[in-house]
Amino acid sequence: MAGLSSAVALADSGLQVTLLEKRPHLGGRATSYTLPDGNEVDNCQHVTLGCCTNLSDFYSRVGANGKVRFYDTLYFVDRAGRRSTMKAVALPPPFHMTPSFLFFGALSLADKRSIASAMLAIATSGGKPKGIDGISMLEWLHRQNQTPGAIERFWRVVLVSALDEELARTDARYGIEVFWKAFLGSAGGYRIGIPTVPLADLYGGCSGAIVKRGGQVRMRCGVREIRVRDGRFAGAVLEDGTELTADACVAAVPHDVLQKMLPAEYSAESAPLEGLSHIRTSPITGVHLWYDREVMTEPFLTLLDHTTQWVFNKTLLSETAASKNGSAASAKGQYLQLVISASYDLVPMSRQDIIELCKRELGEILPATKDAQLTKATVIKEINATFSPEPGIDRWRPPQKSPIAGLSLAGDWTNTGWPSTMEGAVRSGYLAAECAMSGLGNPQKFLIPDMPFEGLSKFWAHKAENANS
Ligand SMILES: Cc1cc2nc3c(=O)[nH]c(=O)nc-3n(C[C@H](O)[C@H](O)[C@H](O)COP(=O)(O)OP(=O)(O)OC[C@H]3O[C@@H](n4cnc5c(N)ncnc54)[C@H](O)[C@@H]3O)c2cc1C
Repeated sequence: MAGLSSAVALADSGLQVTLLEKRPHLGGRATSYTLPDGNEVDNCQHVTLGCCTNLSDFYSRVGANGKVRFYDTLYFVDRAGRRSTMKAVALPPPFHMTPSFLFFGALSLADKRSIASAMLAIATSGGKPKGIDGISMLEWLHRQNQTPGAIERFWRVVLVSALDEELARTDARYGIEVFWKAFLGSAGGYRIGIPTVPLADLYGGCSGAIVKRGGQVRMRCGVREIRVRDGRFAGAVLEDGTELTADACVAAVPHDVLQKMLPAEYSAESAPLEGLSHIRTSPITGVHLWYDREVMTEPFLTLLDHTTQWVFNKTLLSETAASKNGSAASAKGQYLQLVISASYDLVPMSRQDIIELCKRELGEILPATKDAQLTKATVIKEINATFSPEPGIDRWRPPQKSPIAGLSLAGDWTNTGWPSTMEGAVRSGYLAAECAMSGLGNPQKFLIPDMPFEGLSKFWAHKAENANS
């Protein structure tokens, strides 16, 4: 998405862009493909939030905005199968979720009291509480006297899914920003957007935008090496040995791939791209289950007290279920997709054991699954799903402007201030495109501002800004 957003922004500005993609499909980690039986599956369910302004802009550019449906209600379920929901009401932020929070059944009064005080610490500091530099989210929560229930059934539930890392290995700044930008800053930041089509269908407009300007999209076209001469980008050597030159290049590959493509001196110790060898990754496991009948009525559920973190009712969420997943939908079956982030414990487990674990957990929250027939199941382990937002990670994330003239860097791992998300990837793509345009002597702005803060959060955000300036 970093490469696609960069390429589309540059093409929209009149540049002739050549996009080189190693794989046979677009979308990188946020894509879908067809199984041998014809069913199209996402490599993993991807969701966006209302606060993801740049992703929304990118979807508009490529005609995909109408293919993402937003939901105002968040659904939770605990081990006893008890449901709770969260939804904003017409109170000024940060108080718009307060009624839902007060009635949230899975938390005790003591849990709620401790959460409310930490939330106020975030909101009144404009999302920038003091003393968080380099500490983990868990450390910050302990300093805020959070109860074990609050940590396990609230903070961990939201943040492990959002950041793909355990609280003890997450930089406090990242955890705090999730709550500030998505839940406290504005009334609509938390709204969850879910594609109604397989992920690859969102990128149909990319090729058109590039080709319209005389550019081209070349699939199965891996780059082996980036050549640098006298500190300038000199060309990209393809896997078949041919070399391409260009006035400017945006490298939008994963950080470890970039490291191998560039001359070693750029990522050596103390070199400008040294950080590439310090960025670590964390895994996400997606479990796809097809049942012979309806087993779930909600569009999605967030699970408390389970290994499984989310269940998506793909049959209900997908407008095109009938056409794309043919037989399953027409026989009134149901396709569910389960997501487990920071799934370190599942990595060594066999696929069959993972399926059995998920079936057991679904039996507790969706009793109809116990009688239903599981007709098919697939497990997709993404070992390097996202970069790990460990404490101090920002010092290793390089800016989009590289030390090599004519070369800019894009990728969710570059320094955007955002975690490893589609929004982060698109921000990096837009920033890299801005660097490329500046280098060509035609500066442009592509980055879209954050969602505006509202209510009292706006006041506190301004106060924090003034205090820092
Ligand atoms: C399982 C999973 C679940 C996720 N869930 C969410 C979610 O719900 N919401 C969210 O916002 N984010 C989610 N993410 C994160 C999101 O997918 C990524 O942050 C985003 O897609 C990263 O985009 P990118 O362009 O930076 O990197 P990538 O998608 O990795 O793109 C890199 C591209 O470079 C190509 N490439 C690699 N080597 C070469 C080469 N030598 N030559 C040419 N091309 C090459 C690759 O094929 C790929 O297309 C999830 C990620 C995973 C894996």
